[in-house]
Amino acid sequence: MWAHEQTITDCIEMLKSADVRTAAAREKRRGRAITVPMFNHGVSDAYHAFGTRSESVDAVAHEHGMRIIRVQQVHGTDILVINRLKDAASFETGYDAMVTDQPGALITVKTADCVPILFLDPVRRVVAAAHAGWRGSLGGIAIKTVEVMRQRFRCDLRSIRVAIGPSIGRCCYEVDEPVLNPLKGVFPYWQDMVHKARGGRGQLDLRGLNRRQLEDAGIAPQQIEIVNLCTACHDDLFFSYRRDGIGTKHMISGIGFTTTS
Ligand SMILES: [Zn+2]
Repeated sequence: MWAHEQTITDCIEMLKSADVRTAAAREKRRGRAITVPMFNHGVSDAYHAFGTRSESVDAVAHEHGMRIIRVQQVHGTDILVINRLKDAASFETGYDAMVTDQPGALITVKTADCVPILFLDPVRRVVAAAHAGWRGSLGGIAIKTVEVMRQRFRCDLRSIRVAIGPSIGRCCYEVDEPVLNPLKGVFPYWQDMVHKARGGRGQLDLRGLNRRQLEDAGIAPQQIEIVNLCTACHDDLFFSYRRDGIGTKHMISGIGFTTTS
């Protein structure tokens, strides 16, 4: 059982007035957001952003009066379905993806090398956000998220758009047996995703692995966009766990529909 239906409450953080920035600062911040043009095509009231060191989706939330929703991620594949937005409840933990049809909710994921993946169905007006490290990627969290969109919200594969965000690239992601062995066991095409490295190690393409799974699940290649930036290579732009070690900060990425449509 990997899909749970619950109502978010405590993890909804109402924006504090102290955090509201000036219009000029917002403009500056907006200019540095990483967004995917495909998500804006024909859609005027959905907002998304992939976070950087200096930029998170907070600015979007402030500007459009949306509520930021966070959960405690655990490198699993459980998915939280949010189908009611209330002001009271308990903090949610143990989820690595969220799916919602609730306008006004900006669902977020936190990453520092792992892959943030955003989903948008402009027809059913459903959004999703997933956090895919190697465990989540091996567990198929991206395609499980798509399955929840289909089963719970009647989304059609042909209308689901997917954006795979900045993460550690194959250039910097050397892995060894604990990762390679399960990878070999799950994906017959695993060699497409790994370049050989010294000592029997490999360099894993996490973004490519997620793209391949999504395509195999029936999402057309033209509906999937990848932000090909390596978090470890670009220390000016991103935090990186591999590069900076324990205690590194995280980027916040997210997506949501506004309440005004
Ligand atoms: Zn790199």
